[in-house]
Amino acid sequence: MKSIIKNYKDSKKSIGFVPTMGYLHEGHISLIRCAKKENDIVIVSVFVNPIQFGKNEDLDRYPRNIKKDIQLCEKEKVDILFNPLYKEMYPKGFKTYIVVEDLTSTLCGRYRPNHFKGVTTVVAKLFNIVKPDRAYFGKKDYQQLVVIKQMVQDLNMDTQVIGCPIIREKDGVAMSSRNKYLSKEERTSASALNKALLLAKNLFIKGQTDPQVLKKEIQSLIMRYPKIKEIQYIEIVNPKTLKPVKTVKKGDIIALAVFVGETRLIDNIEL
Ligand code: AMP
Repeated sequence: MKSIIKNYKDSKKSIGFVPTMGYLHEGHISLIRCAKKENDIVIVSVFVNPIQFGKNEDLDRYPRNIKKDIQLCEKEKVDILFNPLYKEMYPKGFKTYIVVEDLTSTLCGRYRPNHFKGVTTVVAKLFNIVKPDRAYFGKKDYQQLVVIKQMVQDLNMDTQVIGCPIIREKDGVAMSSRNKYLSKEERTSASALNKALLLAKNLFIKGQTDPQVLKKEIQSLIMRYPKIKEIQYIEIVNPKTLKPVKTVKKGDIIALAVFVGETRLIDNIEL
């Protein structure tokens, strides 16, 4: 991979990179299309990164379909699909990790303690291999995007990190590989997340700036759906610091994580 990259670099080709865990859907495709527009070469990685999963999380059952991923990448004219093995990424004796402080202790980080350490470590490794001029991440994983931007800035990495819009199904559900886990009824209940975020956004537009009021409205709408097991968090945060706000302002982010049945879904909206 590194020697292929060296050839591209020697011939002054710009490299756009889309890191994924595979089981590609329209959300991933939108990142690929963005990358195609802005770069000479587009590289997609598919790697289900074990070190970003907690002990009781879904690593073993995470959906995989590399054949379909290859087909989709071919259709989108991706130049290279990089699909390394676990033992290549983490050979015996692996000892180095990257931790972005502070930004990783809120929102999802509170409930998934080592998740972002795993994400930043694998993304740093992938950046060192692919040496992208631009890397594309979805705003669906808003905290991840902010954390990676911070890592790139702090470690003087030569990659521009670009955030792309959330791609949704017709009923507003944010596309996610994990939606595959949902039964028909759970899938219906999953639509509550975006509906609640839109409701809160409308209340904000009409003048409601108290985060507690907005959070209550979101909570009561979501809990009306039968397959909602638990709301893990609803937070309204500053888009850069990810700290909860006392008064809601334009540009703030409402982020939430909800268990629909056994499946943990996240979503967010920019105000
Ligand atoms: P994943 O394979 O879930 O790790 O996601 C790989 C990349 O695709 C990440 O940057 C995600 O934020 C992005 N992504 C996943 N779902 C969506 C979506 N519905 N809309 C936009 N980007 C997405």
